Amino acid sequence: MPHKSRLVVLALSLAIAACAQTAPVAPAAPPPSVDATSQPAAAGWLADVVAMSDSQAAGDRRAVIQRRLQGLGIQWRAVPFSAGEHSGENLLADVSGSADAPLLLLGAHSDKVDVGRGATDNASGSAAVLALAERFKREPLRHHRVAVAFWDLEERGLLGAKAYVADGKVKPALYVNFDVFGWGDTLWMMTPDANQPLVAASRAATDETGISLSAGDKYPPSDHLAFLKAGWPAVSYSLLGAAEIPLTLEAFAGKKPKPVPKVMQVIHSDADTVSQVDAVAAARGVDAVERALRRWDAQSAP
Ligand SMILES: [Zn+2]
Repeated sequence: MPHKSRLVVLALSLAIAACAQTAPVAPAAPPPSVDATSQPAAAGWLADVVAMSDSQAAGDRRAVIQRRLQGLGIQWRAVPFSAGEHSGENLLADVSGSADAPLLLLGAHSDKVDVGRGATDNASGSAAVLALAERFKREPLRHHRVAVAFWDLEERGLLGAKAYVADGKVKPALYVNFDVFGWGDTLWMMTPDANQPLVAASRAATDETGISLSAGDKYPPSDHLAFLKAGWPAVSYSLLGAAEIPLTLEAFAGKKPKPVPKVMQVIHSDADTVSQVDAVAAARGVDAVERALRRWDAQSAP
């Protein structure tokens, strides 16, 4: 390309970038805030969601996660992959536990669709995984080693998680997925098996935490499906309002739910910004999942 036209293209792309930075992406709403002293877990989770939501490019969102893991003293590694015309990059990190213990893998997709800020879908889930990484680094599980994964290109068809499973090298004892973990009083758990021990552990943990549990095999598609399709054990968690669950399932079944649940108004739209999330609720959800996983781990004593 001739030099001059390259400059024109550069100027044009700078102008577009400037527009993109200043264009409002959501109806004006006060940014959420929590008191870091009285609610440190909520404030930490929110800071991660805000930092990821401020970053549009997939690489910038991963950089937020990389900095956070580094700050926790957790070594991460980037694992590039390609799938057809797409290429992406997963982030993987060992958190704690001895190398010969069975693996508990916690994961969330870090990519977003083109519209909106990807705060709920899925900075919220990524921030939940970061919070759990911090907790299991501080106090490891007794019978499992813990690793975390941040998948790329979920929105293009679970491509990052599929690449990990296709690689086939490290099969976890259980993969626990987090997608849409932004508000509400109900932990929505996808499990293909009602007798999966983590279901009972989640019920006890949500009772202790004062939130509800809804567990079943009907659930929107996310990265856990890449594992389940390979016959690898997996579950997925979301956090939202109880009334949204049946309506969301209707929407994914191709029906038109009335009313349209909040989650279906927010994700994959310009409304997916930090103004929609509830950090105090999310921190409560993280508490419940941490308790559930510790219970599950304790029960798998040899
Ligand atoms: Zn998602």
